[in-house]
Amino acid sequence: MLKLSDYAGISPKPDLQLLARLADKLSPKRLLHINSTKEGGGVAEILNRMVPLLGGLGITVRWEVIRGDQRFFTITKKIHNSLQGLDETFTGDMWDYHFTVNEKNARTLDLDADAVFVHDPQPVPLIKFRKNGLWIWRCHIDVANPVESVWNRVSAYASSYDAAIFSVSKFARQIPLNEFIITPTIDPLSEKNLDMGQNEVCKVAEKYQIPLDKPLLLQVSRFDRFKDPNGVIRAYRMVKKYNDCRLVLAGSSATDDPEGEAVIREVQEFADGDPDIHILLLPAFSDRDINALQRMASVVLQKSLKEGFGLTVTEAMWKGKPVIGGNVGGIPTQIMNGVTGFLVNSEEGAAFRIRQLLNNPDLAARMGENAREYVRNHFLITRQIRDYLFVWYAMLNKSKSVLEL
Ligand code: UDP
Repeated sequence: MLKLSDYAGISPKPDLQLLARLADKLSPKRLLHINSTKEGGGVAEILNRMVPLLGGLGITVRWEVIRGDQRFFTITKKIHNSLQGLDETFTGDMWDYHFTVNEKNARTLDLDADAVFVHDPQPVPLIKFRKNGLWIWRCHIDVANPVESVWNRVSAYASSYDAAIFSVSKFARQIPLNEFIITPTIDPLSEKNLDMGQNEVCKVAEKYQIPLDKPLLLQVSRFDRFKDPNGVIRAYRMVKKYNDCRLVLAGSSATDDPEGEAVIREVQEFADGDPDIHILLLPAFSDRDINALQRMASVVLQKSLKEGFGLTVTEAMWKGKPVIGGNVGGIPTQIMNGVTGFLVNSEEGAAFRIRQLLNNPDLAARMGENAREYVRNHFLITRQIRDYLFVWYAMLNKSKSVLEL
């Protein structure tokens, strides 16, 4: 079982101290996390690590996943897209179905807990079936400019919660409840982020038939149009005229994302058989392979057009890599332009920064070091658990001063 002491010397000491204090105050209370997938995407990634750690801290923790059929996940994907600003068509039936599937889940799930964290819009209607405890809606997506009618539907549920947590302040909306800003984080001790020797990195390169003969550009992402895989290919083609390099696009499609297959086909067609473009379809839980891919890259891209927080950015920064990220969602919270990476707004901008980094190894190394330290101080899992427990504690002790902790 993971222990807090395992993070000594890695996470900032004040985070560990406050976390231990909060856990002491809250254990053995019961905490329940609910989302819609065990694998694929950032939410599952975090919960897979956070849940055992919370258990190790003495909190009685459970993680439940709502079940749904293809129709349900097609609807929730449309909700997700619309909350990120894409105009999708909805009918009253679709909203009824969203509710009905949650109602069914409420009959089989044990919703009894002292605090319930409900992640994202798929399970947001579960609030209608609350039994007891504090209910907190944890919104991971960028709802800064949603389709208003869709936001109104979702916020009608969200406003019944006791509190809402958004990843970045610009995502937050005006809703009549307590709002908190908590950025996601990575676990430095997970298979995806642990230190790894060059031998293993080379073996993974062999496994995926990636010759390490020229600089490697990498984007790891679900195959989703908002991640702009074809834009990455266009930027690579601009670079390739001047700098020989390879491009690896690695990803899978999450089980709650029905569009993935179609996007993979689009990207394969667009790559048009270029032998220096490697499109890797990763099985679920390819954590060590992703770790190795991030380590073998010279430059990591996350050229998203819309993004939640962008954990792939954090992961690559932790590995000391210079990251070029789209100037959207939580990426600018992580990348201080020119210091901990580069922010770009276009394919041409991405190509320019890739070339700058390939031509200046010292700049790339310095940026990578800055990136790693920035992640150490701001985006490690111990800080996020500290903040979640703090929200829980603060909501329970509204009249008490924080100093009484
Ligand atoms: N990921 C993965 N396999 C894949 C693609 C992504 O394990 O094929 C992981 C990736 O390493 C990261 C998370 O899924 O930890 C993606 O989180 P992010 O916030 O970047 O994007 P999201 O998918 O949540 O939009």
